[in-house]
Amino acid sequence: LIQIYQPLNILGFAYREIKQGLTDMEQMFTLLEVPAEVKDAPGAPALAKGPGEIRFEDVRFGYRPDREILKGVSFTVPPGRMLAIVGPTGAGKSTISRLLFRFYDATGGRVTVDGEDVRGVTQASLRQAIGVVPQDTVLFNDTIRYNIAYGRPGATEAEIEDAARHAQVHDFVMRLPEGYATRVGERGLKLSGGEKQRVAIARTILKDPRILILDEATSALDTRTEQEIQAALRDVSRNRTTLVIAHRLSTVVEADEIIVLQDGRIAERGTHATLIAADGLYAEMWRRQAQAVAAAEAAARAQAEA
Ligand code: ADP
Repeated sequence: LIQIYQPLNILGFAYREIKQGLTDMEQMFTLLEVPAEVKDAPGAPALAKGPGEIRFEDVRFGYRPDREILKGVSFTVPPGRMLAIVGPTGAGKSTISRLLFRFYDATGGRVTVDGEDVRGVTQASLRQAIGVVPQDTVLFNDTIRYNIAYGRPGATEAEIEDAARHAQVHDFVMRLPEGYATRVGERGLKLSGGEKQRVAIARTILKDPRILILDEATSALDTRTEQEIQAALRDVSRNRTTLVIAHRLSTVVEADEIIVLQDGRIAERGTHATLIAADGLYAEMWRRQAQAVAAAEAAARAQAEA
């Protein structure tokens, strides 16, 4: 089992450096007031309630006109299913999640949620329907209670604690001297990466979006933390349409569909089993990852024996 919790390093090497600036997509807009690149269409309606189907139809996009990043990407994530996107750094994985969140507009093709073109609905309603669990969560300099309740202003104490329980962070909070009133963030208690991520998951559970974007951490965590986070992520993604930028073998194996993105195109797609059977790029990534894990385990054993 240890093996399955190892991050897919080869799928996302220096990924952190590349994706600087995308710490928490929601906070980037609501907190730092980064001006939006896109505007609501005049008189755009709110996104109607729906089951949460995501569809990319031959989507093309470049941050600059002279360099296309997505070169015709098509996929459908049926309501409640999970799509894992894997591939090397710079392949365009995060760009896909930014287009779904409508930080940018596609230059070709279209992105729809429940059949609605995302360009035709208000951004506020689109973002209300989508929860993001980023790799690095930035916490507010406020209490843990405030940081979780931000997912749904006006949530009751019981709702906050229930979300924290599902996110596997309640017991941790109860051990703090001031419990939910403990101040965190830069000027308060410093939380570990795993703790911060679980606060973010609690926030998202409280928000209760129909669609979830999950950006998995590339860094290795200790086994216990890893298991708690996996359990929390499984909880939050249950019955929600989930798009995950996957770095963990355990997530990829469980996904309903995996797309291997390479240089802005879908190089391979399928389930873990079909992609292994196809013996292509994914199978090669998997083998190399398994070798890296075996080497790391052998090194750890040698160190333990020395
Ligand atoms: P991945 O998530 O697969 O590592 P990204 O979607 O973050 O890849 O990036 C794809 C490509 O787009 C990279 O070459 C990256 O340098 C470029 N890119 C990402 N964000 C921006 C941006 N804001 N402006 C210009 N280029 C960008």
